[in-house]
Amino acid sequence: MENHYDLIVIGAGSGGIACARRAAEYGARCAVIEQGPLGGTCVNVGCVPKKVMWTTSKISETLEDAPDYGFAVTRDGFNWNTIKTARDQYIKRLNQIYRDNLQNSGVREISGTACFTGKDSVRVDNDRLSADHIVVATGSKPIVPNIPGAEFAITSDGFFEMDYLPERVVINGAGYIATELAGMLQGLGSRVTMVLRKDKLLRGFDSSLTEIVEEEMRHAGVEFVLNTQIDEITSNNGRLGIRLGDGHSIEKVDEFIFAIGRSPNTEELDLNTAGVQLNDRGFIATDKYQNTSAPGIYAVGDVTGQVALTPVAIAAGRKLSDRLFGGQDQAHLDYNNIPSVVFSHPPLGTVGLSEQAARGKYGDNVKVYTSRFKNMYFAVTQRSAPTLAKLVVTGDDDKIVGCHIVGESADEIIQGFSVAVKMGATKSDFDNTVAIHPTASEELVTMR
Ligand code: FAD
Ligand code: NDP
Repeated sequence: MENHYDLIVIGAGSGGIACARRAAEYGARCAVIEQGPLGGTCVNVGCVPKKVMWTTSKISETLEDAPDYGFAVTRDGFNWNTIKTARDQYIKRLNQIYRDNLQNSGVREISGTACFTGKDSVRVDNDRLSADHIVVATGSKPIVPNIPGAEFAITSDGFFEMDYLPERVVINGAGYIATELAGMLQGLGSRVTMVLRKDKLLRGFDSSLTEIVEEEMRHAGVEFVLNTQIDEITSNNGRLGIRLGDGHSIEKVDEFIFAIGRSPNTEELDLNTAGVQLNDRGFIATDKYQNTSAPGIYAVGDVTGQVALTPVAIAAGRKLSDRLFGGQDQAHLDYNNIPSVVFSHPPLGTVGLSEQAARGKYGDNVKVYTSRFKNMYFAVTQRSAPTLAKLVVTGDDDKIVGCHIVGESADEIIQGFSVAVKMGATKSDFDNTVAIHPTASEELVTMR
């Protein structure tokens, strides 16, 4: 049958494309169905444009420091549209590269919105397709709460559409996206207020590091309103008024951004027809092999509600294809010790358990090593930001269960150390590694 495949993947984002291409490498006949641009969230409205804007904001910091290094430059003349145009063109190139890659792998690309019509079949517009295996990789979307005036707000998706640098911005949220957008916008010249429903940023990360992120953001000019929620947004001649739960309001706001988490893209799929169950948070429930409750149907990436990161979706998708088509019947992704970076100003790199989580798991059998220092980059600059490196160890052999660093270059430092942590390195393995001098990363192997 022409419309029957070995594998159909719904969603051509990070997880879906990786899964389909790996299956095709094993000779499987694959189709991937996508309703939007190829590459999904990461490429179009996530990691990629975000990293371009983070770099833009970092260049702004570097320009501020440049006179201290002897350069006669100033930070004047930033043109938002120059970088937005370049960024959009880069994404278009990536979309085409993804299209070429699918074609070169022999994966059929089908445009449209898919929904299940049975346990082994889906409909896309008027076409019906069937497969031995179907993978749901439909990702997630930003949550917008149901409050008066929510229609005046934007989310990270709207941030990437903005064609100007807003003067006055309010961001609601305390996670990755809120922190990253606030840092970037403040760095580029906006006046930013963050409204948090609780009392600190990035809860769940090691608090010694998040305190530095918050401290440095305040230092850069970001204002924080803690322990309150958004009650209403009003619009007057295009400028917004934000009414807060604590009775205060913020007026004359150009952009208000919700960054309070994401919900799975499941509504259009008619999962009931296929017998696919959701978990208690509304994400698709899977076991460690990415199996859903319906035999022959699997889910990977953000739609499963597990560690919502691009490399996680990619790895889970590839492992699944290794298992289904590569003869590796036990292949699955190990979700422990996944490294990650918050692209804040300064960036925060982390792998393993925070001190708080380690104490929750191992009780008193936890030791902590920290080093707070000034990166040599700031040796001659008026601007300065601390770096904090932290190791969390447990057991008689001082096994490293957490490795964290916040500060200049933390985003690039943590990947290498995550290999060591994943391999089960101990504190003495770190001690026995000769330092590279003068770097920030040497602090992680010289702590006493
Ligand atoms: P997606 O990439 O979202 O792909 C899902 C695809 O399915 C979409 O293209 C969608 O159009 C399609 N789809 C949905 N429903 C249907 C349907 N019914 N029929 C057909 N197609 C459908 N992660 C990192 O690792 N590093 C970062 O720096 C980072 N930064 C981020 C910044 C932002 C602002 C955001 C929002 C996310 C960021 N992430 C980052 C997270 C990362 O983007 C996601 O974890 C990743 O994209 C998830 O991949 P996925 O394959 O699960 O879903
Ligand atoms: P997160 O889950 O990171 O953070 C959302 C935060 O918003 C919550 O932790 C919560 O903090 C707060 N929140 C939740 N509900 C409400 C509410 N109703 N009102 C006010 N605040 C609320 O989600 P994001 O949207 O920031 O990002 C989604 C995911 O995308 C991330 O978890 C991450 O996996 C991925 N991502 C990764 C990036 C990277 O790798 N650099 C960058 C961006 C996104 P609290 O409970 O403290 O109030």
